[in-house]
Amino acid sequence: MAARVARRKGDASAVRYQCAICKLPLYLSRRQAGENRWFVHDGKSEDCPWYEGHRLTPEQIKALIYRGQQEGKEHLRIKKFIAHWLGKNPAVSQVSQETTTFSEVVKGEWRRPDVKCLYGDIPLVFEVQLSYTFLSEVIARDEFYRREGIFIIWVFCQFELNRAAVMDEAFFNRRNLFVLDSDAMKDTVERQALSFTGYHQRPQLRDQKINDIWMSRVIGLENVIYPQDTYRPYFFDYDAELKRLESERLEVWRTEQSLEWDNGIQDYLAAAAKYYESDYAKEFKPQMLAAVDRLYDNINWHRGYEDLRNEAFFGYHSVLPALLSICRNKPIGYKVTSVYQVIESGLRNGYPNVGQHAFAVLYLWAYKEYRPTVSDKNRKWLKDYAHQVKHSIEAQELTYRRYGGFDETIELLFPELATHLATDFGLMNT
Ligand SMILES: [Zn+2]
Repeated sequence: MAARVARRKGDASAVRYQCAICKLPLYLSRRQAGENRWFVHDGKSEDCPWYEGHRLTPEQIKALIYRGQQEGKEHLRIKKFIAHWLGKNPAVSQVSQETTTFSEVVKGEWRRPDVKCLYGDIPLVFEVQLSYTFLSEVIARDEFYRREGIFIIWVFCQFELNRAAVMDEAFFNRRNLFVLDSDAMKDTVERQALSFTGYHQRPQLRDQKINDIWMSRVIGLENVIYPQDTYRPYFFDYDAELKRLESERLEVWRTEQSLEWDNGIQDYLAAAAKYYESDYAKEFKPQMLAAVDRLYDNINWHRGYEDLRNEAFFGYHSVLPALLSICRNKPIGYKVTSVYQVIESGLRNGYPNVGQHAFAVLYLWAYKEYRPTVSDKNRKWLKDYAHQVKHSIEAQELTYRRYGGFDETIELLFPELATHLATDFGLMNT
């Protein structure tokens, strides 16, 4: 107030506070609103966006505060820097950096960008974000330029992750930030072309986990992608990289799962062989079931494999010991001397509601596929038996009807039988 009184008395140099935009002296208002006092222009300043004498709508006030801070010293310096170096680029034309006047703002014509140019045939504007920009203003401007088909690059002066505006922009623009800091200015001079420090988040895969890390590199206009859908230029496609890493991670995981799956099957078969060779000693059965538990946790599991835990499938003189014997060319789990004896007894294995020879077809297929050692006499016997089965089934008789309930489990453990199992021969599901 002392300075104000001195000015009234003619001392024009008595300026304690000054408006940053119109340079008019300010004084501290004596009126109090709540706890706040504020600065008042000492005199009329109709062209100053911060002049408190305007009667404006909240919308206009917001636009003015935005525009007002855009006219600060630092802002002008950045703006000039951008315009200067755009002017030196032969690919760039029509560079303009006019300032919106107060009257334009009030009339609603305030959407003039900080710097505007044509890069090749790409219309491009730069907006500088200094200390504080309303998110609503950023969104409104993005909208406006997208409708006009103009690309907009928001320029920051510093990379400050704790600043809301920086995080907002990172969120909106694929985690890409154009920063014109002192490094970028140095790069610009070195490269003799407008350069930004391009901060971007990059997803990284480590120990099967994806983490985002911030990185930066020098970005010139030529390193920028200009997308026709968003009109928000970027230099690193975070989403595409994330997608790539996710499918890579999935691929690695699938490979691991398949490896574990194959190991699990071998473990099951090994545990089964141990169980049979111990003459079905109780203490070996839990090892088989534990192997099934591991398979159960695998992505390749499905309920068709439940029979791995089914006694009717793996128990005493049932399907698994018979097939293992035929496949490995020695009796496993049978107190006999030849595989032929295993087959011969297996041909008479029945199954409830199916018939007295429910696995005859299966064992004959296995015999055909694995070719275990048998005597000439036994080979002939098996051949005749197979003919008999074939004729019977072709005649629609139910004598040798085959039980198909174990097929998926059999195919899992004995993939060589897959083509046989794929036929519906002998199933006769009437
Ligand atoms: Zn002012």
